[in-house]
Amino acid sequence: MKVSFRGGVHPAHHSKRPTQHLPVEAFVSDTVRIIMSMHIGAPSTPCVKKGDLVKVGQVIGEPVGALGIPVHASVSGEVIAVEKIPYLGAQPVECVTIRNDFADTWVELNPLGNVESVDPALIVPAIKNAGICGMGGASFPTHIKLSPREGQQCETILVNGAECETHLTADHRLMLENSDRIVDGVRAAMRAVNAKEGIIAIEDNKPDAIKAMIKACHGRENVRVQVMRTKYPQGGEKQLIEACTGKQVPSGKLPLDVGVVVLNVGTCAAIADAVIDGKPLIERITTVTGGVRNPANLLLRIGTITEDVIGHCGGFAVTPGKVCFGGAMTGLCLPNISIPMAKSTNGIVVYSEEEAASVEEDACIRCGKCVSVCPIGLNPFEIKLAADKDDMEKAKSLNVMDCVLCGCCSFECPARRWLTASFKMAKQKIAAQAKAKGGK
Ligand code: SF4
Ligand code: SF4
Repeated sequence: MKVSFRGGVHPAHHSKRPTQHLPVEAFVSDTVRIIMSMHIGAPSTPCVKKGDLVKVGQVIGEPVGALGIPVHASVSGEVIAVEKIPYLGAQPVECVTIRNDFADTWVELNPLGNVESVDPALIVPAIKNAGICGMGGASFPTHIKLSPREGQQCETILVNGAECETHLTADHRLMLENSDRIVDGVRAAMRAVNAKEGIIAIEDNKPDAIKAMIKACHGRENVRVQVMRTKYPQGGEKQLIEACTGKQVPSGKLPLDVGVVVLNVGTCAAIADAVIDGKPLIERITTVTGGVRNPANLLLRIGTITEDVIGHCGGFAVTPGKVCFGGAMTGLCLPNISIPMAKSTNGIVVYSEEEAASVEEDACIRCGKCVSVCPIGLNPFEIKLAADKDDMEKAKSLNVMDCVLCGCCSFECPARRWLTASFKMAKQKIAAQAKAKGGK
């Protein structure tokens, strides 16, 4: 049986992706710029200095605070800069730049071995030491997700193989080319929290991945594949949980409050690498597509510079209007292409000037289309009216904080209202007001 959720949309490029049949190839550049704030939580502190020689997998950033995770060198070579650089947010971020010596000299690793026989108590510390955070985009530290609070019990490890965003095929290729590693990661996560079941959820537009993952699950304890209808945002955490388990995560609550932990397929493969081989997270698959000459699925070392990636893909095939990390619905626009990719960079998408041209918004015609597609059941046109009046109390009462910024309402709106962008700003404003009042 195929499952799904209420609302959602079918954007172009949803099922037609030029990179879906292209096998993953590795690209290693001569310089990497590794930022210290790739995860949600306090940035890591650089623990190397200019002139130091580092090995692959060496810790170059120490974790800070409760959500902290370490950052590792993704190549061996010489540290040529430790400095703050502009990144995707308003503030510059700390960055370690390494010139690659191409010797690929690794630090000594501490493999734990087979995921079925390893002591479960060692799994979460191994995940933390490997610097793993969500690789589907959210970047939440994985060891925290797998650390239930007192009174919480994780029943289900739910694995997101939906890849519902436009353009992207990184997860699709991973499921085809490394399916056993994903299942190993699911089993390790299940054993870490004593979960009863593992569910790998995949949209029905990827029949080859479904087949590969079903085969990989064969003979593995309590892990199965769940096929979902193809619809955006099928991979949204709350939509995925509702579709696959029938459980609803209440407003203001987390998946663990309903006994579920959601992990991306890439995160699961990284967990397996950390447990079986003792390897930290130093590389990932990224789809490079849109206006580049040779679209590709590339295995990139963390910190590879966007300009180098585009150059490797033959350069721009269009006059670029914008370059984004991620797909069209939730992607983040880069301020320039000297920005390096991070642990959560699942795609680099180039748009032409024409595609990137912004449109003026018209008046709302009260058609209600935004309401019908909202997967959370919000009333976007009313929230937008409140946001436009800067009435944050009203926006809050209309549950803007539950908005997952999926972009469905903006996508569907015939008046091209800037709904999602204004909700993002409203959420930031409300969060800042709460912080100023001491979190109340
Ligand atoms: S962006 Fe927010 S309001 Fe709009 S459809 Fe998504 S969840 Fe609903
Ligand atoms: S879809 Fe656009 S025009 Fe229609 S009700 Fe929503 S905001 Fe108004």
